[in-house]
Amino acid sequence: MAPSGNKIIIIAAPSGAGKTSIVKYLLKQMPEQLAFSISCTTRSPRAGETDGVEYYFTSVEDFEKKISKSELAEWEMVYFGKYYGTPVSELERIWEMGKTPLLDIDVKGGLNVRKRFPDRSLALFIQPPSLEELSRRLHARGTETPESLDARINKATYEMSYKGEFDHIILNADLDQACAETEQLVRNFLQA
Ligand code: 5GP
Repeated sequence: MAPSGNKIIIIAAPSGAGKTSIVKYLLKQMPEQLAFSISCTTRSPRAGETDGVEYYFTSVEDFEKKISKSELAEWEMVYFGKYYGTPVSELERIWEMGKTPLLDIDVKGGLNVRKRFPDRSLALFIQPPSLEELSRRLHARGTETPESLDARINKATYEMSYKGEFDHIILNADLDQACAETEQLVRNFLQA
């Protein structure tokens, strides 16, 4: 086994809860220990996104091939018929570097990974202070159409009902505090 013990860290949250900021913080604080697990998706790149950095952007056909060849550790149709999935090869790539993959993933996908790797994953749920605040953050981000904003809020409401199934819930009312709390949990888990 690699020195990291082939562990997995799952950061899940409703869209807009601050998950990506926390993931970026962890990668900056712990570059020797953690690496971002790059998912495959069939959604289009947003401005500033690069293939192979934020995601591997793939066609529906290629994604479905990966499903049929069992190349994905989990996958979900997260929004609007768009697929998202964690390639097994990505987890292996990171373990081979002696690091731990950090997954920025939706709630259902996160719980599926945890079920698949129950003894070596840490599943963290980032909770927004309220659905009103979540809606405000998504508006401010400016990446959504009114329809996609509604879909994200509806999904968030549903996802909040799963938070009890995670190892820890981190309330993101104050980002610095949420980052520090998450980092401590991750360090404890990697040392155990
Ligand atoms: P976005 O389109 O905003 O980048 O991501 C939408 C949602 O899909 C986010 O909650 C993100 O964490 C989630 N996501 C990203 N990659 C994966 C993945 O590989 N599997 C699953 N199940 N969800 C993912």
